[in-house]
Amino acid sequence: MFDSLIEKLEIECLILNDLLLKVNNKTFQIDSLLIKNNQIQIFEIKNYTGDFYYQSEQILKKDQSEISNPLIQLSRTESLFRQLLLKLNFSIPVHASVIFINPEFTLYNAPMEKPYIFSGQIKNFINKINSQHTQLTIQHKKLAEKLLRLHLKVNPYQNLPAYDHQQIKKGINCPRCNSFSILIKGWKCYCSDCRNFELVEKAIERNVNDFRLLFPNEKVTTNKISDWCKIISSKQRLQRTLKKNFNHYGKQQWSYYE
Ligand SMILES: [Zn+2]
Repeated sequence: MFDSLIEKLEIECLILNDLLLKVNNKTFQIDSLLIKNNQIQIFEIKNYTGDFYYQSEQILKKDQSEISNPLIQLSRTESLFRQLLLKLNFSIPVHASVIFINPEFTLYNAPMEKPYIFSGQIKNFINKINSQHTQLTIQHKKLAEKLLRLHLKVNPYQNLPAYDHQQIKKGINCPRCNSFSILIKGWKCYCSDCRNFELVEKAIERNVNDFRLLFPNEKVTTNKISDWCKIISSKQRLQRTLKKNFNHYGKQQWSYYE
């Protein structure tokens, strides 16, 4: 919502959104950053809703529960961003503010001097910037490019919960309904919940791939897959399927598959 409002800026400026940056080993995130000729503005966007009141640097809910004051986070972001500018040899004033984007947010006793911009003030705020004259130089554009290059791509796996073999439910699950109520009937796996049939060979292959995804550092062996699939009682059957669908390395008790 804020992005679409700030896009309405008609002045010459550069807008960078959702930056994840690092300086002196500290990571920080900037929701929205506006580069103008004489100033950089950082915006922290908050979508709080409801009635709150301000009291000695705290934002409190009517029931006294506290929500974290975004200014604390913002001053950290601002300070780290200044350090980064210093490293990049770029000198420009930085101004940071909190945007409360939700029109259903009220903050009683909000001090006027705090850099808060409430929903009803955003339009005016944009108009005010639009009335300023600003012209960018090649240096501003270079700075924006540098910041984009420094932007850290988040590893999608970094937020995975910790897990190990012991915790994970073993057994073949149904590819259609995910149930573990699988029975083996001859060449096929039968799901007693949704009545889906799947070739045992296919099911084993699928489960080996799950195993490899979950435990990329572990070697795939017949014993491990036997424990993993749980319901395949015949090791010969497992071995045959593994040999057929994966590359086989090593001999006897050292053999594994990739
Ligand atoms: Zn099923």
